[in-house]
Amino acid sequence: MKASSLTIGRPVLKHFACQSCARLLRIHRRYATTASETPEIFDVVCVGGGPAGLSLLTALRASRATSSLKIALIESQDLFQTRTWKLPPDQYSNRVSSLTPSSIAFLEDIGAWRHIQSSRVQPYHEMQVWDGVSGSRISFDWPGTGSEPPQFPQQKTIAYMTENLNLTSALLARLEELGGLTIHDNTRVENINLGQETETLNLSSWPVVELADGRRLAARLLVGADGANSPVRAFAGIESRGWDYERHGLVATVQLEGEGWGGADEKVAYQRFLPTGPVALLPLPGNFSTLVWSTLPSHASLLKSLSTADFIAMVNAAFRLSPVDLAYMHTQSQGQAEELSWREQHTKFDVQRIPQRIVGAQEGTVASFPLRMRHADTYIGERIALVGDAAHTVHPLAGQGLNQGQGDIQSLAKTIEYAITHGQDIGAQLSLEPYASDRYATNNLLMGVVDKLHKLYGVQSGPVVALRSWGLQAVDAMGGLKGFLMRQAAGGG
Ligand SMILES: Cc1cc2nc3c(=O)[nH]c(=O)nc-3n(C[C@H](O)[C@H](O)[C@H](O)COP(=O)(O)OP(=O)(O)OC[C@H]3O[C@@H](n4cnc5c(N)ncnc54)[C@H](O)[C@@H]3O)c2cc1C
Repeated sequence: MKASSLTIGRPVLKHFACQSCARLLRIHRRYATTASETPEIFDVVCVGGGPAGLSLLTALRASRATSSLKIALIESQDLFQTRTWKLPPDQYSNRVSSLTPSSIAFLEDIGAWRHIQSSRVQPYHEMQVWDGVSGSRISFDWPGTGSEPPQFPQQKTIAYMTENLNLTSALLARLEELGGLTIHDNTRVENINLGQETETLNLSSWPVVELADGRRLAARLLVGADGANSPVRAFAGIESRGWDYERHGLVATVQLEGEGWGGADEKVAYQRFLPTGPVALLPLPGNFSTLVWSTLPSHASLLKSLSTADFIAMVNAAFRLSPVDLAYMHTQSQGQAEELSWREQHTKFDVQRIPQRIVGAQEGTVASFPLRMRHADTYIGERIALVGDAAHTVHPLAGQGLNQGQGDIQSLAKTIEYAITHGQDIGAQLSLEPYASDRYATNNLLMGVVDKLHKLYGVQSGPVVALRSWGLQAVDAMGGLKGFLMRQAAGGG
């Protein structure tokens, strides 16, 4: 990568995820470091080279107004691996996100989307969602909404399934093309302190980031794009509130027996709400799909321990059998394949309204992640901005986490651009205010809806089940309301 400084350092063990470390950092903030060496000064230091961090840096480098800023990226992973990421056409990574048309339009705008490996991206045009308890369902597709099409060039497409690594690799390619960025990768942030006042320089309100290799970087604006356990957020003393869902998101790359009911051109995404959490099958090119199954941690452990044949049976069962039958199959340590073929004979389902049968699971792709909801009290502080998962973590049932991060980046990049063109200090909290007021309420609303959906569908019996089924059917029948919901989910407002 063409960069004015590229650090290949040794990863260190220290990190800031724990409460005591966070407290320590706050103390550091009050009692500035005594290190004497002057740090290198940057306009923007971004910690975190995931989708959010790389998008921000690309947006800043791509804009004429902000391209002369001195910018540094710090990332604990080896970005060379990300940049050169390549898989054969019959293999897909298990971390895949559905990018909304609004996110794609932004990525096109900053020149990143043309670097994507487009043969690995799968648009889908319809989404079938149903209640695993009552069977009531809703289908989303643009032509069926009865409202005007969205204001995107990619009409009719609900979202684009894209491997996260395909996206980050494209962003890195675009950054390489733009140049002028200092990258410290393969090294962790060891510490963040406030700077010092010397005879020639007053950095006492500037965050100074210390890396494992001893380098120190002072930031006019320090951006935390460093994920759910954000060290930048801890340094700023910003609380992040929420709860754990006591669910794991189990992911896998699976293979269908055909290309799906709509064929290659009209791909469909499926999501069934089970009492333990939703199970979703989202299309990838050819007959591949990505599975996201939100379930109890014990169920996730069992699923990961099964033979491929039994795992495949469980996935097929999740879209076909009753929750009671499925719960029984979760009590078996093996033999799910035989159990399913017996139980299917006694279960009625409409094959055209559920995904095609799974016939394979790609080796090494079954993994799970704990699911939680967290929202930072604020996204900004003096010389601090938080973006992406550092600011908010949401349940994946609506496929919005990464898209929310893209919305943050658009807004923060615009805010920085405005500050620059109006002679403001880009790190001053006052300059950052428009970003926080633009994004906080929007994200909070979406997170609230997603959280309520998770809770609503966790109920197994009683009037709530009847009410939610009625609600689903009513929304399905109301083209206008359905169109409105789809525009919100597509990021179109
Ligand atoms: C099962 C599952 C399915 C999902 N599906 C979707 C979907 O369909 N659509 C969608 O929009 N979202 C989805 N999401 C959410 C999405 O994956 C996240 O919102 C997104 O990856 C967050 O991006 P980010 O850049 O903010 O954070 P991250 O991807 O977490 O990146 C943070 C970066 O910071 C680096 N870092 C952290 N600490 C340090 C440190 N101390 N020093 C240096 N670097 C550091 C990390 O190495 C990492 O690269 C899903 C999530 C899950 C769990």
